[in-house]
Amino acid sequence: MLRTQKFEGSIAIVGEEPELPYERPPLSKKYFAGEKEFERIQLRPAKYWDEREVTMLLGERVVSVDPVGHIVTTDDGKAILLRPG
Ligand SMILES: Cc1cc2nc3c(=O)[nH]c(=O)nc-3n(C[C@H](O)[C@H](O)[C@H](O)COP(=O)(O)OP(=O)(O)OC[C@H]3O[C@@H](n4cnc5c(N)ncnc54)[C@H](O)[C@@H]3O)c2cc1C
Repeated sequence: MLRTQKFEGSIAIVGEEPELPYERPPLSKKYFAGEKEFERIQLRPAKYWDEREVTMLLGERVVSVDPVGHIVTTDDGKAILLRPG
């Protein structure tokens, strides 16, 4: 939505899980039953995020958010500086 609204700042999604974001309901109903591949329960394929310049920082836990300084810190000590639009 931010890209649709012409937001040109940086966008990153930080997730503790190592996978790209996926739908939970079909996880138990389709994926575990072997009826769908994991790629088919993802919210979007990797290409979608790449094309919109959304950086995926996976397998990282956020421990602090500084909204004024635009800095997110992860549990491995990484400080992510986000560029405002
Ligand atoms: C197997 C399963 C089946 C389900 N089926 C249904 C259904 O049929 N119908 C229904 O209505 N609901 C269902 N649900 C529940 C529904 O999926 C949840 O209500 C929904 O996932 C909640 O969405 P959310 O984005 O708030 O949280 P989540 O989906 O839990 O996503 C939060 C994400 O943030 C990550 N995270 C948390 N803290 C941090 C941090 N500090 N740093 C980095 N990452 C962090 C977590 O690792 C997680 O990936 C199901 C859930 C599961 C697990």
